[in-house]
Amino acid sequence: MTTTTISTDAVAVSALTKRYGARTVVDNVSFSVPAGAVAGLIGPNGAGKTTIMAILLGLVRPTSGTATVLGAPINRRGEYLGRVGALIETPAFHPGVSAADNLRSLAILSGQDGRDIPELLELVGLGGRGRDRVGSYSLGMKQRLGIAAALLGRPDLVILDEPTNGLDPVGMQEVRTIIRDIAERGCTAIVSSHLLSELEQVCNWLIVIDHGGLVHLGSPDLLGARSDTLVLRTDGSRLDDLRVIAGSTGLPVQLSDGTLYVSLPNDADPSQLAAEINRRAHVAGIVLAELHHERADLEARYLEMVGGVR
Ligand code: ATP
Repeated sequence: MTTTTISTDAVAVSALTKRYGARTVVDNVSFSVPAGAVAGLIGPNGAGKTTIMAILLGLVRPTSGTATVLGAPINRRGEYLGRVGALIETPAFHPGVSAADNLRSLAILSGQDGRDIPELLELVGLGGRGRDRVGSYSLGMKQRLGIAAALLGRPDLVILDEPTNGLDPVGMQEVRTIIRDIAERGCTAIVSSHLLSELEQVCNWLIVIDHGGLVHLGSPDLLGARSDTLVLRTDGSRLDDLRVIAGSTGLPVQLSDGTLYVSLPNDADPSQLAAEINRRAHVAGIVLAELHHERADLEARYLEMVGGVR
């Protein structure tokens, strides 16, 4: 699967499996992340997101399967780790030391000069607070500092595990803005969340997992509920005729369980289209049992895929 603007893969995972004893927590998962994408790794709690990220970072060894990160296989992580930044779980910083000094220590530990620290603090909205002790930071500020740490040294790929976890709506919005800024710097991002709604506005690639297995891969449009739809139903004997009529609008029509779904483009006027289809059906002598406009609801579609809220 590809998008129009992106041609190479930053990450490619093939038949990845991780078992702990008899328990399979990542089950034969294959996916790719195109270079430059903002990929959402989405799945309910316990779906296996952190485990997949840890495997990509060489922190956990897979039971079977392979993966490449920035072109190098995960069993040669030394070849890519220097170009990858990560935030896994809650970041640990020294509370008695300033944010800038915390970042400086991390930079030194990874052999960097840390010259990008002021710019990174600015990027994550901590420009004015870089000299304050991390102990005085709110959870949201710590999360943002964690993202800054992941961006030290201008990585080509950044892996962020649940960066919006525990944040209020304002904090979540701030993190989304930072993720957008990261993408604008040309960095590929893989960001996990158990809620699609937290990330759907920033992701142009989705990897949806449930119970360790892949349930969806590709652009959010392919999740199937991005566009609004017109829902049409009629007597079974006239369904094919109605399908032809709906198709004559030039819009994509899908038949599922005796119901027709017409995908509406963003600029469409649903009531005008519904009236037009109704008129054409009437002329053809077809009585519509149902004709209504269904709004896109990506989160609902996601919850359907992963079996509802738990
Ligand atoms: P969450 O959103 O809750 O962090 P997740 O999707 O990141 O969930 P993982 O943390 O990858 O899920 O965990 C997947 C499953 O693997 C869970 O059931 C977890 O208990 C199990 N698991 C993870 N690490 C280990 C381990 N070291 N030993 C045994 N089981 C583990």
